[in-house]
Amino acid sequence: MRAIMKEKAGPGLAMKEVEAPVPGPDEVLIRILRTSICGTDVHIDLWDKWASQTIEPPLVIGHEFVGEIVETGEHVKGLNPGEIVSGEGHLVCGECRNCLGGRMHLCPHTKGVGVNRQGAFADFLCLPKTNVWRVNPPLPLDVVSCFDPLGNAVHTATHFDVLGEDVLITGAGPIGCMAAAICRHAGARSVVVTDVNPYRLELARKMGATVALDVSKDSLLETEKFLGMKEGFDVGLEMSGNPQALSQMIEVMFSGGRIALLGILPSDAQVDWTRIIFKGLTLKGIYGRKMYETWYKMSVLLRGGLDIQPIITHRFPAESWREAFDLMESGQSGKIILEWN
Ligand code: NAD
Ligand code: ZN
Repeated sequence: MRAIMKEKAGPGLAMKEVEAPVPGPDEVLIRILRTSICGTDVHIDLWDKWASQTIEPPLVIGHEFVGEIVETGEHVKGLNPGEIVSGEGHLVCGECRNCLGGRMHLCPHTKGVGVNRQGAFADFLCLPKTNVWRVNPPLPLDVVSCFDPLGNAVHTATHFDVLGEDVLITGAGPIGCMAAAICRHAGARSVVVTDVNPYRLELARKMGATVALDVSKDSLLETEKFLGMKEGFDVGLEMSGNPQALSQMIEVMFSGGRIALLGILPSDAQVDWTRIIFKGLTLKGIYGRKMYETWYKMSVLLRGGLDIQPIITHRFPAESWREAFDLMESGQSGKIILEWN
């Protein structure tokens, strides 16, 4: 089968012919139809510090996918060949205190598809039956291939009540833009999205942002006045990983505001602690998606009219993966789909 791989330590990727995986007794073999490129895949391609400390080549990369079941192991019941599925790319131990306590997304023994084990950017993927998410009735394949990042957006955007609230989202990457659509769908009063990339800000507008603001040029305080906000934002979703964006957010939050942190900030990022304390802000770190409550919510939201299709800006045949990665790395795209069939 074809597979996009990190062959050896260092920058770059390659498409290679490799042996297709064989499902074990509790596993499902999936023929991949579409995949989408994540920031994590970009880190692995560019071989940054995180990638060099985490990835052990040779490794098939990728974890955002939709496919069709072609074979199931002997212990697998209720999943059948021909069914369209996506899947949770975090494999958990099932035995630790968090797993047994129903907090599987916080399992400290998590292994990632396309990070710590063979990934989905290939013609076939093997996944434990517990990680397979059936999509029935059908949804558009491109949308299903984005379930993983949509799950990050849903898990973050639903963490605090946004109904009737003024929401600030810092970072108009694919996840920030999807979060904007979710907050509007969930009844926020206004959703302001910030970025410094005009292409991404235009995407945020298409995804339903009330205002999409270039913070390298325009002021958040002016926007608050323009929207008739007297007090500040009620809910903040940090989705840029940029320390300046978080500082700016803390500045414009209303007292008692709640902030969910998804963006991966540098470990030495500074914040104004006195502002956090005197404003009585709540800050909550967010990791992954809930297994499988978030998957359930995602399916219901999409069937209830949540439209994330504007975030899918480009499609390439899998063979043109290099072109797709270059475009992703330019910042001039939303989600990019690779087609495998
Ligand atoms: P992305 O890198 O595509 O988007 C981040 C956006 O932030 C970019 O468009 C960038 O231009 C913008 N940005 C940069 N500086 C800014 C500033 N000062 N103010 C506002 N925006 C600014 O990322 P993504 O794929 O949309 O993911 C969002 C974040 O979530 C990333 O930091 C990613 O690493 C992180 N993430 C975390 C988890 C988790 O489990 N915690 C999971 C997935 C992604
Ligand atoms: Zn566990």
